[in-house]
Amino acid sequence: MTQLSPHFSLSEMTVTGTGLPNVAPSQAIASLTALCVNVLEPIRAHFGKPVQVNSGYRGPAVNRAVGSKPTSQHAKGEAADIEIPGVSNLALARWIAANLKFDQLIAEAVKANDPSAGWVHVSYGPRMRGQVLTMKGGKYTVGLAA
Ligand SMILES: [Zn+2]
Repeated sequence: MTQLSPHFSLSEMTVTGTGLPNVAPSQAIASLTALCVNVLEPIRAHFGKPVQVNSGYRGPAVNRAVGSKPTSQHAKGEAADIEIPGVSNLALARWIAANLKFDQLIAEAVKANDPSAGWVHVSYGPRMRGQVLTMKGGKYTVGLAA
């Protein structure tokens, strides 16, 4: 099993529920490694709990199968959709926004009355925009809100 960082493996970062092959090319592996080292490891260290990766790298077929755009940062290995069981997704997103350097952070499908609803999309790549968004019902708004 290839480890990309102490707590994150290549197989975790290429996981897919689609049943399709999902093999990351070397450039994507380099990007995934940077994401693990600079974003996911600090999150794990802070919360002291395993980070569940729902989706990291998506090859073209996987990306199409989940209805994502070809321009998605998942297709470059620059983004991950994460959750920490037992931690509210909004709290997770707020900690990332306040403490880490990232390109784009999106609280996706979060709900004020259900802390486990949704997930957190976070990317790390060449642009490093530090952009923070909330997505609900397919609509994006600036900032974090449930
Ligand atoms: Zn995502």
